[in-house]
Amino acid sequence: MRWERSRVAFERAKRVIPGGVNSPARAFGAVGGHPIVIERGEGCRLYDIDGNSYIDYVLSWGPMILGHAHPAVVSALERAIHRGTSFGAPTELETQLAEVVCRLVPSVEKVRFVNSGTEATMSAIRLARAYTGRDKIVKFAGNYHGHVDCLLVAAGSSAATLGVPTSPGVTHAAAKDTLVLRYNDVGQLEDAFNQHGHEIAAVIVEPVAGNMGCVPADVAFLRKLRELTTAFGSLLIFDEVMTGFRVALGGAQSLLGILPDLTTLGKIIGGGLPVGAYGGRTEIMDHILPVGKVFQAGTLSGNPLAMAAGLATLQVLEQENPYPELEKRSQQLADGLLSLAARAGIPVQVQRCGSMLTLFFNSQPVRDWDTASQCDVKQFAQFFWAMLERGVYLPCSQYEAWFLSTVHSEREIDQTLEAAEAAFGQLRTR
Ligand code: PMP
Repeated sequence: MRWERSRVAFERAKRVIPGGVNSPARAFGAVGGHPIVIERGEGCRLYDIDGNSYIDYVLSWGPMILGHAHPAVVSALERAIHRGTSFGAPTELETQLAEVVCRLVPSVEKVRFVNSGTEATMSAIRLARAYTGRDKIVKFAGNYHGHVDCLLVAAGSSAATLGVPTSPGVTHAAAKDTLVLRYNDVGQLEDAFNQHGHEIAAVIVEPVAGNMGCVPADVAFLRKLRELTTAFGSLLIFDEVMTGFRVALGGAQSLLGILPDLTTLGKIIGGGLPVGAYGGRTEIMDHILPVGKVFQAGTLSGNPLAMAAGLATLQVLEQENPYPELEKRSQQLADGLLSLAARAGIPVQVQRCGSMLTLFFNSQPVRDWDTASQCDVKQFAQFFWAMLERGVYLPCSQYEAWFLSTVHSEREIDQTLEAAEAAFGQLRTR
């Protein structure tokens, strides 16, 4: 692999963009070195500006479940773009996408589109506070819900990677109503509700965490969450920005059979364009302006290009039902990684839910941020580079999920495992 053009392009970017990136997660900060600069993507492959190609397990951090430049998405975008790119007025596309979301996500009767996952969680929290007339929010260490001030406390993802649990610039006032609890810890949850239950507006949770690596919640933990929030009149918010249409067509809630009061969505519903959404029961959602009084707005919200890409993506997912196949391929990858690591004598965990998974360099299962933080991140960084050199593009942090697309075939899984065998071998001999 040669990365000279990427290096030069990144140096140029750093002069005008802080750290050369528009989002810290992509900066390769946790693995050292500079990021590769992408020229294009096609199917499950990425091509960088030096002419190298990679099997892509980042998939834009989740959205590209159909792979890059899927023909149905490209032609929907082509049709839409000739009609104008933004009107700030209603279009039929928004209603069509909303109808699909409401039909597929079990707890959602009405949905409002925004432009990112961050906007979705920020708006859901505001709505929950207005609806309940309470201030306190519960979140879990290692869960990431975007860079909303009150949620940027003990967050996972790049915040965890960079060891900045609370960002400078987040005021004490913004963070003081946020209670941070341990993920999967029923006892702590009960204690928090016994102490503060009547002040808690909402609990926000990733039902399958992806932002400390893939850590599925225990069903008993989520059931307890549902029970306590109901008993105390707090709202339960499932942050399904990552899991929505990823772990199943109806998201994690459809797998678990546990219905939240509000759901936040993003990533896949935009088909690779900037979209977020929040939805829930009509009785709650109708507190938003212009029906109710809770203010939330957006010049580009419901943007026709974004709606067209999202709609095309969800239509393909619904028509083709790729989830059994995604499950099979992901299982093959997970099994392969486990047996290769065992053969090389390297202690790892592979944790998975559908087509999101993480290879943890950890001798014990990861259940929460405490166990996640015991991973051997140096070993991860070595593995990451060994894979990149062999044409496999993984998330550049131990604390992220890998994603598969519908166009990762058996051939790519085999190539990935071949690369992994060599990469594990390289670790062993160091
Ligand atoms: N919630 C979850 C669960 C996420 O994974 C993310 C992003 N990775 C967000 C919220 C924030 O979304 P965005 O980056 O679109 O603001």
